[in-house]
Amino acid sequence: MIANSMPTLHVLNNTDIATLAAEFEYQSPQEVLKWALDQYHPRIAICTSFQDTGMVILDMAWRINPAVRIFTLDTGRLPEETYRIIDTVRERYNLPIEVIFPDAQEVQDLTQLHGVNLFRKEVSLRQNCCEVRKVNPLRKKLSTLDGWISGLRRDQSVRRAAVPVIEIDHEHGDIIKINPLATWTHDQVWNYIQDHDVPYHRLYDQGYTSIGCAPCTRATQPGEDPRAGRWWWEQEEHKECGIHIALRPEWSAVALPKTGTYGN
Ligand code: SF4
Repeated sequence: MIANSMPTLHVLNNTDIATLAAEFEYQSPQEVLKWALDQYHPRIAICTSFQDTGMVILDMAWRINPAVRIFTLDTGRLPEETYRIIDTVRERYNLPIEVIFPDAQEVQDLTQLHGVNLFRKEVSLRQNCCEVRKVNPLRKKLSTLDGWISGLRRDQSVRRAAVPVIEIDHEHGDIIKINPLATWTHDQVWNYIQDHDVPYHRLYDQGYTSIGCAPCTRATQPGEDPRAGRWWWEQEEHKECGIHIALRPEWSAVALPKTGTYGN
């Protein structure tokens, strides 16, 4: 049994989180989700791009609380298949998906200065694009919440190998962050999808193993790293968009218009 008597977010300290993290390590994702939703709904929401793990978490959470909140970041450069699954989820689960858009002026300033496909030019510009289209909208959304739930798994990449099941998100105002599938494997995720007839992103049928924006994602070949299709022209250590792992400040040092409002 999970300790439902634990104090809520406002009084959780590092010791509380360490205790919970140790406890959750051996709990099922459903037990962790139930604890999180019981404690924080409606001040907690699932952030998903409708990839395999996100769909599993969404399905599990909906079975626990059919009013669970779901939000997604529409960067403006998503593949058509992502828009299709957003509507599929709305209909299947009868859930109002909260679609978060980037600030129009920030996108205009950035693309006017560097072009619409700036992400191909250099890592710092790619990160600026992710910052404007993903990181800044996420930060704004999370400022309205006490916690969020993500689909991070330890087996997704070396940089995610130590992801805890629960943590304090210091990047976003010390709110709580839950990663219910941190300990799960790729096979466990897909077994759940098949066993529960969960809708899945159709790009998986075309050889994609990780899915983001259309111009920055390609299918992978058998034997390739699952995230090899993300920003495939960059070195492995750069392959994060800043949503889960902060971008290194030195990578963001690019010339921006003085009138621009986006962060770098
Ligand atoms: S993934 Fe590509 S298109 Fe999407 S926000 Fe990042 S750089 Fe821009």
